[in-house]
Amino acid sequence: MRGLLNLKDLSTDKILELIKYAEKLKKGFRIQYPDKKIATVFFENSTRTHYSFQCALMNLGIKIIDVDTSHSSVNKGESLYDTVRTLEALGVDGIVIRHSKDDYYKELENIKIPIFNGGDGKANHPTQSLLDLMTIHEEFGKFKGLKCCIVGDISHSRVAHTNIEIMQRLGMEVYISGPEEFNDNSAPYIPLDQAIDEMDIIMLLRVQFERHQEKMSITVEEYHQKYGMTVERMKRMKEKAIIMHPAPFNRGVEIAGEVAECEKSRIFEQMTNGVYVRMAVISDSLDGNL
Ligand code: ASP
Repeated sequence: MRGLLNLKDLSTDKILELIKYAEKLKKGFRIQYPDKKIATVFFENSTRTHYSFQCALMNLGIKIIDVDTSHSSVNKGESLYDTVRTLEALGVDGIVIRHSKDDYYKELENIKIPIFNGGDGKANHPTQSLLDLMTIHEEFGKFKGLKCCIVGDISHSRVAHTNIEIMQRLGMEVYISGPEEFNDNSAPYIPLDQAIDEMDIIMLLRVQFERHQEKMSITVEEYHQKYGMTVERMKRMKEKAIIMHPAPFNRGVEIAGEVAECEKSRIFEQMTNGVYVRMAVISDSLDGNL
C-alpha cells in the first residue's frame, strides 16, 4: 500500500529523511502540487490532526475534499472500503483517514492511491510521532541516549505505542509512568518522581476516557496530584529538559494550566511542526517515494 500507515514499515533512515525534509519545509522550502486533490475523512473527533493536514495540503497548493462523515453514506451502512473505493473512483489522489478501529487500513489493501493514517484506534499515529521526533530533534539535535518518559494513559494511547517503538529504534531510552491500571508493559515502568528528576523529555498523555471500557479507579483530582505535571514537579526537572503532550490536554488533570505554556513546554511547537511533517509526508508520497 502507498502513503503512510504506520512507522513500523519505514526504515530508520527513511524516518530521519522525512524529519529533515520537514525541517527544510519549515525553513521556507516551497513545493506545489496544484493539479492534485486529496480527501480528508475523519471518523473520530480531531482538531490538530484534521486541521494541520488541511493546512499542510493548502501550503502544498493541493485541493481539499473534506468528507463530512456525519452526512456521508457511512450512515447508510456503507463500509469503509466502499467509501474509500468511491473517492478513488472519483479521481482523488490520496486520502487522509482517522478511524477508531486498530489497523483499519488492512481492509484497504486493494486501494491504489496513497492513504495517510491520521490515527487508528489504540494502534498507530504515525504523523504525530514524526512531529514529536521533529520537535525533539530541533531541541536536542540528536536522539541517541536521550531519556524520555511517557506518562499517563499508555494502554489506550496510539501516540505512546507508535512513539515507544520508533524512539527505541532511534537509540533513545524510553520509560512509561502513571497509574498502574494503564501500564501495558510496552516499556519499562518508572515512578513519576524519579522520571521528573532524570528525564530529558516528559511526554504527558490525556486520559482517553472515550476509549475506556471501565471507569478509572481514581478521581481526576487524585490523578493530578499523583501523576499530573504540577508547577512543583516542573521546577524539579533538569535544566534543559522539556515537556511534551500530543494534545488535546486537560488543564488541571495531566497538566497544571500554567505549565502548559511555561518555558519548558513544547506543546504548541509540536502543533506547528505537525503542519511541516504532514507536508513532508504528502509531498514525498506524491513524488512517488512513499
Ligand atoms: N490527539 C491524540 C490522538 O489522536 C491524543 C489524544 O487524543 O489524546 O490520539
